[in-house]
Amino acid sequence: MARYTEAKCRICRREGAKLFLKGDRCFSVKCAMDRPHRPPSAPGQHGRARKKVSEYALQLREKQKTRRTYGLLERQFHTYFVKADKQKGVTGTNLLVMLESRLDNVVYRLGFANSRNQARQLVRHGLFTLNGHKVNIPSLLCKVGDTIEIPEKRRNIKIFTEAAETIGRRGTPNWLEADYAAFKGVVKAMPQRDEIRTEVNEQLIVELYSK
Ligand code: SF4
Repeated sequence: MARYTEAKCRICRREGAKLFLKGDRCFSVKCAMDRPHRPPSAPGQHGRARKKVSEYALQLREKQKTRRTYGLLERQFHTYFVKADKQKGVTGTNLLVMLESRLDNVVYRLGFANSRNQARQLVRHGLFTLNGHKVNIPSLLCKVGDTIEIPEKRRNIKIFTEAAETIGRRGTPNWLEADYAAFKGVVKAMPQRDEIRTEVNEQLIVELYSK
């Protein structure tokens, strides 16, 4: 499937926010958004130019930021929005909950991968089981009670040990429970809006798609 492969830090600079696309580097002084001597700017020749920001531009940027955070293509993202809109409750929250419950995101949040991109690759390679069954579809939506596990013969892969060492910097959200000794994680509950750490104003996305 087509996938955006531009430099990750460039995406953060474009969106003017840390999207945490490069694993542990995002928490280090090397992060392009955290350089004290050089404030971040949008990429390109006119990146530092002052521009008047329209309401539409704000809504578009918020949507792009969210889409890129979760590494989705436009069509996939729009499909999630349509599903979220059909559900009961607040559309914006429904959308975020759905994005958070994707298997690749759950693997990332549990700390079995350093980034969503890495989590997606690991899932695609069939390195996890979901409720005891081998899975290789990153977009699977996890439910309450689902157990994600790394089978015994896969546990010596260096990525897992490294990711488990760095999870301390990110922390595991309350709605998930990770057992690193057993290479296992459980979805305890669906996330509440205030437990979703993606910094986004989802209402702007709803307004954009409602036009
Ligand atoms: Fe690069 Fe990560 Fe910093 Fe974004 S948050 S600029 S991906 S290091």
